[in-house]
Amino acid sequence: MKTKPSRWITIFCGSAPGKSPEYANQAFLIGKWCAEHQFGLVYGGASIGVMGAVAEGFLQNGAPVSGVIPTVLKKREVAHFHLTELIETETMHERKALMMQRADAFLALPGGFGTLEELFEVITWYQLGIHSKPIFIFNQNGCYDALLKLIDDMILNGFVREENTSIYEVFTDLSDLLARLDSIKPSSHASVEL
Ligand code: AMP
Repeated sequence: MKTKPSRWITIFCGSAPGKSPEYANQAFLIGKWCAEHQFGLVYGGASIGVMGAVAEGFLQNGAPVSGVIPTVLKKREVAHFHLTELIETETMHERKALMMQRADAFLALPGGFGTLEELFEVITWYQLGIHSKPIFIFNQNGCYDALLKLIDDMILNGFVREENTSIYEVFTDLSDLLARLDSIKPSSHASVEL
């Protein structure tokens, strides 16, 4: 990328690579595509798993990457030390607030508990009116099928309002996801203070 990125995407994804190499491969390709389409990356700052793969996709194609990592995780030596910027925070809460504020959009790729926690926090914050940024879920290889079924059950049980499922958009097809990402407008990093 020769020009500064005009938009920033915050990506939540696994610190593990998953059982299939396809998870990391597609994460790298998403990073590459984003780099070629004026996106910078905000993410958790790790060099491992799907997180490491997506960061490499951006970096190897000339896009800036901001890692936001609490000191305690950095000390475990999983931080990526070749990022454009590695922001150290005191707490996980501070980290997630920064990752939210800097985003023009959020994307969850396959991951585990940490990914779910971050995804559901931005969905909840949207529900509460704290932000109004788009949220995308990449249901690669059906990895989130059971989660989406759980949400359907929560609607049936009266704990989730059906209209709130429009807060996020689910993609199973990579090209559909990329087409939607291309429509993202920059929000000038504007956000409410938490
Ligand atoms: P998980 O899905 O449980 O692997 O957690 C991944 C998510 O939680 C990422 O989006 C990160 O922001 C955060 N996270 C979990 N483990 C780490 C780690 N070792 N280093 C940095 N961030 C992590």
